[in-house]
This record gives sequence, C-alpha cells and structure tokens, in this order.
Amino acid sequence: MNLNSRWYMKFKISFSFFVFILVMSCNFLFAKLPPTKYKIRTVFIDPGHGGSDPGSLGAYSHEADVALNISLKFGSLIQQNYPDVKVVYARTTDQFVDLYERAVMANKCNADLFICIHCNSAGKNHAAYGSETYTMGLYRSDDNLAVAKRENSVILLEDDYKTKYQGFDPNDPASYIMLSMVQNANIDQSVNLAGKIQQYLGTAGRFDRGVKQAGFVVLVYTKMPSILVETGFITNPSEERYLNSEDGSQNIAQSIFNGFADYKKEMESAKAPQKENKSVLQNKMDSLQTINNSEFYKVQFYTSFEPLGVGDNRLQTVKGFTIAQDAKGRYIYFSPKYFTKIEAVAAQAKLKLNGFNDALLLHFKDGGKVED
Ligand SMILES: [Zn+2]
Repeated sequence: MNLNSRWYMKFKISFSFFVFILVMSCNFLFAKLPPTKYKIRTVFIDPGHGGSDPGSLGAYSHEADVALNISLKFGSLIQQNYPDVKVVYARTTDQFVDLYERAVMANKCNADLFICIHCNSAGKNHAAYGSETYTMGLYRSDDNLAVAKRENSVILLEDDYKTKYQGFDPNDPASYIMLSMVQNANIDQSVNLAGKIQQYLGTAGRFDRGVKQAGFVVLVYTKMPSILVETGFITNPSEERYLNSEDGSQNIAQSIFNGFADYKKEMESAKAPQKENKSVLQNKMDSLQTINNSEFYKVQFYTSFEPLGVGDNRLQTVKGFTIAQDAKGRYIYFSPKYFTKIEAVAAQAKLKLNGFNDALLLHFKDGGKVED
C-alpha cells in the first residue's frame, strides 16, 4: 500500500465515520425534538356591528353594545387564564368596521380562531329566545337564512359592496346558494368549537337552539375555524334584560370561554391537525364577472324566475357554476368558462344527462356572443 492509498483509506474511514456521526446526531436530534404540535396562539374576537350600524334593536338597547360588552369580557377571560394566548379584537369601541375588513384583520394576524359575537332578533315576535351558534354552510331552514340575511345586510352600508363582495347580494337567495358552495377547509373544527360553546351556554341556563349553518359573509373570507355566536334574542324582553345585566353578560362570556377552553385542550393534546391555511374562497362567487376579450364557451343550463332550491339534486353534480340575473329578473345558471369547444360540448352533454335538458352552448368572443 503506497502513501496515497493509505491516505485514501484513512480518508474513507474518516468520511464514513463522519457520515455515521452525522446520521446518529440527526437521529438523536430528531428523537429529542418533540413533534410539532398544534397550539392556539391567537384568538380573533369579532364583536358584531358598531358605529353607524347598531345591529338589532331591543326595547332599550342595541346589539352592537351588547356584543362588544360580551366580547371584551370573553377576551379578558382568555387573557386571565391563558396569558400566552394573544387576543385581537375587530373593534374595542363603538366603531364601524367592514365585514370584509374583519376577516382580513384576522387573516393578517394569523389568528387560530375567529369568533363573532352577536345578538339575535325576531322582529316583532317577542317570544323567541335562546342561543345558537353558526358555522358556514348550507342553510337548512328559512329561519337560518333570515339570520344570515340580517347579519349580512350591513354590507349595504359599505361603499362599493358589489365589487368588494364579488356581486354578492345579501337579499338574494341565489347568492346564498353560491356562498354555500365555498369550500371551508376548517368546517370540522368550526362545528366542534360551536358545539362546545352551545353545550356550555345550555348548562348556564340558556335555551340551546343548537349549532346551525348558513352563509355569513364575515365567515367566508377567513382562513381559520370560524364561528358566529347569536348569544340571545335582544327582541325578547327578559333575554334583553339578561344580555344587558352584569351577571348575564358575564355568564355568557364565561360559557363561550369554557367552550373555547375545552376546544383548546382537546386540539392541543391530541394528534391535532395542523393549522389549515388554504383559502376558503376556492369556488368564489364570480357570477357577475365581466366578459373579457378572449374567446371562450359557457353552457347556460337553467333559466327561471325562481332560483333552484339548495337541495336540488341536479345542482350537486355541477361544480363552479355561476348565476346571473337578466333584466326581467330571471335567474340564469351558467357552467364555468371553457376555452375549447370540445370541453364545452362535453360539459353540455353531462348537464343534459344530469337533468338539465335545455342546456345551451354559448360561444363568446371579444366581449360579445357569437352565433355559431
Ligand atoms: Zn348581528
């Protein structure tokens, strides 16, 4: 063995050892590192309404004030019990904040939870009472739709709401069908949290109206589990007194906190899911999108003065459809855009197979319809 080969052997052994040590160190390091655990670091609390929008009106109080009072109490409970959890509020005074802005604020601070606090209203019906908590989803009853409509109607006070909310009309049932198509990646966690809060509100003596789903604009733009608590009916005289009393507002805040605390414990202890940062606006409402200059095809598959019901089985088979309204007020349902005729014809055939017998192929070019 000459000098060179001896040096080579020495190098080879040293190098192998180096790799061995490196691998072992890594094993050691990884063995010692705890697995990344889900932890709730920031909670975004959104007191409903405020400023020029008082929310629902009771006999002597406004929803905006009641919601703020309960929200601040809930936030204090988090800070007292979990000093390491950051609490961020959409507002801490009587000020107007756009619904969209509330969601953007929560996304910007990377909140782990988004909790909206509101009070319910039954108009002139003073008998309705109890608490209910909402997550995004399809409404199952006219009552749920009415709650969402009322909470969303505030956008009518905002400047340029049609552009900002991509054509969403808070009074149009068709808009809610589209809103419910938004895929919320955090729906399971939202429902879990909502259920826990309802459970504690029930234990605290509130009538438990349950966990419900409807399309809320403020919930649709958030990237984290998001819920909206309707703490009680401000239109019910005894509930209005309770909501405005020191004990009542504290009890409600405590119940929401207890639900949150249970959720936090459960999520942080188990093999908890990682935080989902996927945008919830994948199937966003682009119904009123302007036709651009390029060439494309669409299938017009349904036209009627009545929008299709949310439970219509045929609709379940269509992905990414859009709805527009013509001058006569008819609802017109369109497939997404297709950029080749073959794709569009295939889509038309599928729509016909699924029960839309009158599905019509449309060809657009340079901003206008082309008669083929
Ligand atoms: Zn409200």
